[in-house]
Amino acid sequence: MISNKGLLYVEPSQAASPTPVIDDVTQKMCAAFRKARRSDGGWAGVHECMCGAHSTCWDYHLPNGDLTNSLCVHYVAHHRSEVPAKQLARINAFRFGEDKPNEQELQGPELVLAGIRASVEEYLGSDRLGTWVAWGLDVEALCRSLRGGCLAKMAGFTEARQDADALFSILCSIEEKALPRLRESVQHARGDVRSWGAEALCVPGWNREAWAMPLADLMRFADGDPIHRRVVAMSFQLLGTHAGAAITALFDLAKWARDLQYDVGLALRDIKSTPGLFVPPAAVPGLFELVQDSSYPELQISAALVLARAGLNTEHAVRALIRMALEGKEFEYAAAVLCGTRNQTEGYVGEPGIEGWGNVASPILLAALQASDWQTRLRAIKLLGRLGRDAGETLTALEKAGEDPKLRSHVEEALLRIRSPGSADKTIEKKKSSEKAKAQVVVPPIDRNKPRHSQFFRFICPFCLHSEVVGLWYTSKTCSNCQKSIRIVKQPGRTECELIDSVSATPSPPERKPGPTYY
Ligand SMILES: [Zn+2]
Ligand SMILES: [Zn+2]
Repeated sequence: MISNKGLLYVEPSQAASPTPVIDDVTQKMCAAFRKARRSDGGWAGVHECMCGAHSTCWDYHLPNGDLTNSLCVHYVAHHRSEVPAKQLARINAFRFGEDKPNEQELQGPELVLAGIRASVEEYLGSDRLGTWVAWGLDVEALCRSLRGGCLAKMAGFTEARQDADALFSILCSIEEKALPRLRESVQHARGDVRSWGAEALCVPGWNREAWAMPLADLMRFADGDPIHRRVVAMSFQLLGTHAGAAITALFDLAKWARDLQYDVGLALRDIKSTPGLFVPPAAVPGLFELVQDSSYPELQISAALVLARAGLNTEHAVRALIRMALEGKEFEYAAAVLCGTRNQTEGYVGEPGIEGWGNVASPILLAALQASDWQTRLRAIKLLGRLGRDAGETLTALEKAGEDPKLRSHVEEALLRIRSPGSADKTIEKKKSSEKAKAQVVVPPIDRNKPRHSQFFRFICPFCLHSEVVGLWYTSKTCSNCQKSIRIVKQPGRTECELIDSVSATPSPPERKPGPTYY
C-alpha cells in the first residue's frame, strides 16, 4: 500500500548533537533511504537545517511509499530529541534492513564546518584570506558563525549568522589589489592595522563604525575593478546606523568626484533611509551648510534627509520633499520618503517615512490648494490624503478645492483616506473599477463611404455630462471638463449618438492634448 505520508519534514530549533546517535532507528532509516526513489520534480532550492546541513532539492519515495527528504538520516542521528516519537515509531516499524550511514548521509557538524571553511577559502582565495588573518581575522570563529542559524518557518537567520554574513560580504567586496590601500587608510586613521582588526574583524560582534571611513576611502581607489567599487558602495547598508560615520567623506566624493556619482548615490540611498542614523557631531555643521547650498540640489535633499534620519532636524527634509512633490518631477519618490512605504510591495519600497511630517507640511499644502496650476493643486490634494487623520483641519479647504470638476474625484479619494484611513484603499479600489466600467461612450463605426476625417459625433461625458464635438475616429478622449479618460467604443447599430458630418471645416477637430500627468 502506498501511504505517501510525509516523514521527517522537521525543523529543529537546536544545534546538532556533536556525536550522532547510531542505533536501530538511524540504521533502519538509512537502509530505507538507500532504497528510495528520487521524486521527478525538484524544489526551487535546497533546505538549510538550523545546524547548517543542507538537503538536496528533491523529495524521496521510500519503498513503503512514505515521502521524505535527504536530511532524514541527519535528523534522526543529530537532532534525535526533536524528532516526534510517532515518527520514530514509524521508522522502527520499517522492514528494509539496517545500514550504517556514511558521513554524507549524517552531515555532522564537523563536516558542515569543513564545507563552509572550503567555501570561505574559495571565495576569498588564499592570499586575500591570509591578509585578513594577518590583520586579526579568526577564520575558525567566522566559519562557526556562518554555520547554521537558519530559523524555522522561513523566518530568516539568527542575529549571529546575519552578523557573520555581513562581515563576510564586506571581506568579499574588497579585492586583493585594494588591500594595500585599505591598510594605508587604516594606518592613517588608526596607526596600526592590528588594533583596527581587533575591532573590525572580531566575530561575533565586529565593530561597524570601524569600517565606515575605510570603506569610504576605498570608493576613491581608482586602480580597482569598478564592479568591486560598486559592491563596496552597497556594503554601507551592512553598517546600519554606523554608516553615518562616513557621511562627510561621501558627500565630499559626491561633490568632487563626478565619475563616482552613481556609486556614491548607491551608498547614500541606503544611508538616507536608515532611521536612528549615527552622525558624528563634527559632521553636523557641514550638513546644515549643504542643506542651504543650492549649487548641489541633489545633495541638498540628501543632506536634509541625513539630518532627519539622525533626528537632528526634520523640517529641512520635509520642506524640500514637499517642494519636490508639488513641482511634480519626482512626486512618487518624494511621497514615499515622506509617508513611508514599509507596507508597500511596489514603488519605492522600504522607506521608513518621516515621523510628524504633517506638522510642517499642512500649511504648505493648504497654500498649494490655492495655486493657479490645477496640477499643483492635484498634487497637494494627494499628499493631504496621505496625511490621514492628521489632515483633519484641512477638510474645509479640501472640500472647496473639490468644486473644480477636474479635481472632484481626487478630493473624494483624499477625504476617504482622511476620514477612514483603514478602509479607504478598498473603497477607492472598488470605486475605480466601477468607474472603469462607466468610462466609455458607444458610437457607431466609421462610415467607409465618407472621408474618415469628416465624421464627428457629440461626445457627452458619462461622468460630468460635459459635451463637445469629437472626431469619430478617436479611440479615447480625455474629458476637458473632469479630465477623466473615456474609451470610445464602436458598435454597429448604435443610433442614440448624435453624428455630425463636416465636409468643410465646420467644427474644428478637438486638439490632441496630452492626458493629465498624474504625479
Ligand atoms: Zn541539522
Ligand atoms: Zn467629464
